[in-house]
Amino acid sequence: MKRIQGWGNIETDYNVPEAAQKYLTQTVGAPLKLTNAPLEVLLGKVPPSKLPPYPGILIDPESRLRHARGQSLNDWVDLCDGTVDTFPDGVIYPSNEEEIRKLIQYAETHKINLIPYGGGSSVVGHLTPPGAGPPTLSVDLGRMNQLLDLNEDNFEATFEAGISGPQLEGHLKKQGFVLGHFPQSWEYSTLGGWIVTRSVGQQSYHYGRIEPLFVTGHLETPIGPLDFPHVPKSAAGPDLRHIILGSEARLGILTRATMRIRRLPEQEKFYAAFFPNFDIGAKALREIAQAELNLSMLRLSDPIETETTFQLSGEEKLVSFAKKGLKLFGQGDERCMLIYGLTGDHATNKIADRQLAHLVRKHQGMMVKFYLGEAWIEKRFLTPYLRNTLWDLGYALDTLETALPWQKIQVGRQSIVSELQRGLADEGEKVLVFSHISHVYTNGASLYITYLYRRAHDPHHTLDRWKRLKGAASQAIVTQGGTITHQHGVGMDHRPYLAKEKGPLGMRIIENIIKDLDPNQVMNRNKLIKLGK
Ligand SMILES: Cc1cc2nc3c(=O)[nH]c(=O)nc-3n(C[C@H](O)[C@H](O)[C@H](O)COP(=O)(O)OP(=O)(O)OC[C@H]3O[C@@H](n4cnc5c(N)ncnc54)[C@H](O)[C@@H]3O)c2cc1C
Repeated sequence: MKRIQGWGNIETDYNVPEAAQKYLTQTVGAPLKLTNAPLEVLLGKVPPSKLPPYPGILIDPESRLRHARGQSLNDWVDLCDGTVDTFPDGVIYPSNEEEIRKLIQYAETHKINLIPYGGGSSVVGHLTPPGAGPPTLSVDLGRMNQLLDLNEDNFEATFEAGISGPQLEGHLKKQGFVLGHFPQSWEYSTLGGWIVTRSVGQQSYHYGRIEPLFVTGHLETPIGPLDFPHVPKSAAGPDLRHIILGSEARLGILTRATMRIRRLPEQEKFYAAFFPNFDIGAKALREIAQAELNLSMLRLSDPIETETTFQLSGEEKLVSFAKKGLKLFGQGDERCMLIYGLTGDHATNKIADRQLAHLVRKHQGMMVKFYLGEAWIEKRFLTPYLRNTLWDLGYALDTLETALPWQKIQVGRQSIVSELQRGLADEGEKVLVFSHISHVYTNGASLYITYLYRRAHDPHHTLDRWKRLKGAASQAIVTQGGTITHQHGVGMDHRPYLAKEKGPLGMRIIENIIKDLDPNQVMNRNKLIKLGK
């Protein structure tokens, strides 16, 4: 069963070894002993529903609490510390397009705010019901999880939009295919959520982001159904599919999508390499990206992330032995770990691996073919559970991301990291900050930054610390000319920074599309952008 307080299912835990706990105490300070607010307290806060009656709507406190938030740090404080104060007035699980159409009519008639709910894995406040205004209905798409068609001739598959990562790949695998979209939230996040937030999977270097995988779809908008042409490519004016990608539920509910699929790869391997420092590693990565090698993933950790990964592995003896070995080969304390993936047929993988090894060595790097790559792939969907354990220990952990051109990667990273590192200095609090380059392009790369700080006794204080850190880092991102989000979307948390990226005319175009398709503002009000009355 899915946790209400924290990430994932209640049966899975990620243990933080004692050595790692010591490391955190040394770097950030000893944590306070804190406990989560009891669930009864949260359930007791759910007010009476304001929704007019409608068949199938659940108004019990547990259903409404379960759909009240996503996974942003703000959401965590609300649900774990008990500060949650807005709830959907009801939850409904439609089973088909017809039901969704009727629901939208009901919302139009009674001026209800609809929030589609996929996997609930949003990390930027997409799902928070507004405090004031019309009642909110959470529309959980969990029942719309079927494969509708698989066309082997065209390498396409059509799914209902509420299908989760494991359900989707489960269907495809049986028939020898793969979509290959693996965000770290894959266990719960859904196809509809990926499309409307422009999600990026870990192996996007091979499979592509969600945008090129999305062929066509069906959107139920407040003013009627919208279908997109189903053609391999087209030059017939602007591509209207792009108004769905990143629409964050402001334009309607995506009910189904046709996706480009591939044959299952013959072989998939993950390995590691090390570079003496981040500067050298980033230069090597740029050259690798621009050589356009046949790889599926490239992920370069900075020295602190490399060290933290070692500490969290719980393999003290192995780590100490490995560090000695790495030092002998010139990979000292500033070492940076690269994890890379090979996805394809044996022959192509072999060539790509050889080409990569050549470039790694050219940049003073060292290939490591055992353990690390395998350990990474084995734990890739388990790692998010670490956030639960750290929270229980007394630490808040959050991540943020951007993309920058190659020439700004190092300066940009330093600027964001130092804003975070000194963000709580006025309180005498330390912040552990580490980063990696997570997706590479020929013209730049995305940076993924993790920061960890101590929770405070007062949840508002924990939240205030997050607001200050997130604000300073976001400001540094836009000052450097980076995007406010490479993959997580805008929601509420990135909304203040959107205008800087789109410009006044760009904002007007987005506003006008929303006003056109949703004139009465019944779709996910206040997310992405805030409209006047
Ligand atoms: C541990 C963790 C790891 C993550 N890793 C990644 C990652 O690697 N890459 C990445 O890109 N993101 C990542 N994310 C962010 C998140 O998983 C993505 O934004 C994801 O696409 C959200 O999908 P979801 O189904 O959970 O959507 P939800 O969180 O349920 O909803 C997100 C938004 O989409 C809307 N929505 C959902 N379904 C529909 C629909 N059918 N029609 C219209 N609107 C809809 C919702 O109303 C909301 O506005 C991660 C999050 C977590 C918690």
